Amino acid sequence: MNQPLFLQPVFQERIWGGTALKDLFDYDIPSKHTGECWAISGHPNGQSVVKNGPFRGKNVGELWEQHRELFGNHPSPVFPLLTKILDANADLSVQVHPDDEYAKQYENGELGKTECWYILDCKENAEIVFGHHAKTKEELVSLIENGEWNRLLKRIPVKPGDFFYVPSGTIHALCEGTIVLETQQSSDTTYRLYDYDRKDQNGNTRELHVDKAIDVIAVPHKSSSFEPVIEKREGGTITTFVKGKYFTVYKWEIKEKTDFTHDKQFLLISIIQGDGKLTVGEETYKIKKGDHLIMPSGTGDFTIEGMLEAIVPHP
Ligand code: ZN
Repeated sequence: MNQPLFLQPVFQERIWGGTALKDLFDYDIPSKHTGECWAISGHPNGQSVVKNGPFRGKNVGELWEQHRELFGNHPSPVFPLLTKILDANADLSVQVHPDDEYAKQYENGELGKTECWYILDCKENAEIVFGHHAKTKEELVSLIENGEWNRLLKRIPVKPGDFFYVPSGTIHALCEGTIVLETQQSSDTTYRLYDYDRKDQNGNTRELHVDKAIDVIAVPHKSSSFEPVIEKREGGTITTFVKGKYFTVYKWEIKEKTDFTHDKQFLLISIIQGDGKLTVGEETYKIKKGDHLIMPSGTGDFTIEGMLEAIVPHP
């Protein structure tokens, strides 16, 4: 197999969603409340489908089951990663995700969820909720029980190009006016801690999972120890944002032409800016902002030419 797999994303409507996925990426979104683009996904709640080559029409989960050789025979029982683009047109609920061990025990064998965010775009003075100020579990519980959210939650300003590593156990929320590319473990398990006491048109609040959230929140909050590593290459720059247990994430900035050695089991490639050409063996493919592809095992080395930026995770 020496072809990249270009993927058709799946869109998910959310009450906090908007139209940024159309405005920024020209995607054909289902409504004005489109919150999530599941760009590279083998998760049963939204599978991306291959658009080209001999596997056209197959979804990522099927390929993982039937053609594990494409993925370097990676041992995970499920496609381990999920790339999303999120349009937070309103504040998302304040939440936390469990780790693998907790999810396995309490969520029918789901994976835990460690994730990370690359800020694609945001309004001026945009913020995120990231971490908390409690020093002990008792203090955490008391601030939650008394609804002292401003004292508990840590808010930090964000700008386009920022990167945040969000391990399981970290309290977090995207806030209004942020567009994010998220790389995460392939899991859909979220414990909602606080939803700003919002009600829908019918006067209903959304379900909270406070007890489970308290179980899994890391106290005290630890910020990430990863420092980005920047490597200048001929024709481009490669930034390594994080090398973690579950994923490594790079940003590629191509200015002219850059050669890549493909020595990983597979790569997920999301083009976030610009356009260019990808040459694999004898074949050349046009690539542009909004394209998402998997570079399977066995394509060999490849070259990218053009002016573009991509976010590239691998397990
Ligand atoms: Zn999350």
